[in-house]
Amino acid sequence: MRIPFIAGNWKMFKTVHEAVLFVKELRGLVKDVSGIEVVIAPPFTALHAVAEAARSTNVGVAAQNVYWEREGAFTGEVSAVMAKEAGAEYAIVGHSERRRLFGESDAIVNRKTLAAIAAGLTPIVCVGETLEERERNQTFEVLDRQIKNGLDRLTAEQVAELILAYEPVWAIGTGRNATAAQAGEAHAHIRKRLRQWVGGDAADHCHVIYGGSVKPDNIGALVAEPDVDGALVGGASLDVKSFMSIVTKSRPAAV
Ligand code: PEP
Repeated sequence: MRIPFIAGNWKMFKTVHEAVLFVKELRGLVKDVSGIEVVIAPPFTALHAVAEAARSTNVGVAAQNVYWEREGAFTGEVSAVMAKEAGAEYAIVGHSERRRLFGESDAIVNRKTLAAIAAGLTPIVCVGETLEERERNQTFEVLDRQIKNGLDRLTAEQVAELILAYEPVWAIGTGRNATAAQAGEAHAHIRKRLRQWVGGDAADHCHVIYGGSVKPDNIGALVAEPDVDGALVGGASLDVKSFMSIVTKSRPAAV
């Protein structure tokens, strides 16, 4: 049984002060909410302060990115070990903005995923097709390639524990979400492939969440799809009320 998983990806938004205020409010709102995992991914500058504010609460904390080396001459990078020490429990890896703007390949995504696991972080590995690829009917092919290469050398047990985020690039930050049917179809395909590649137990255990213009008014239909285990939320996670509304509507009892 997979507990719904909702993560807010704040991207490059919120100062330390704003981030802590948000988490203090959120932790009160989710205090008595069970049956769902709630995670915030602040910018690196706020990671430690957010982790402190979330300590001993049911709010989890994710880094938005990690570098695969432990330490060294890599100006501007933050290692998975450092993110873990700062309080992160999860790490987003391979977000489409990192792939598109910072040239991250599937091979880099794989190195980051392995480094996150080695540091004791749960990776949230993002995959998804561009609009062009969808229009050329290449969605499944792209997902297969990104998942196979991104998760290369992981054991079935490691795949079972991670989170895959299906984020069609054309739906991220555009206000144009995938329909529940489109998301359901892609998630069912991913689950089928996981079953083939790592076996039924790992496939059934692995969370596959959806991301792309998730809002309080579309989350219900998305999580009602049997293979959609929650959401990675960008824009709508910046406001505590809208994020909380998404959390509330994702709980099993709410569907
Ligand atoms: C994201 O950043 O992962 C995302 C899905 O953004 P948005 O919800 O704003 O589309």
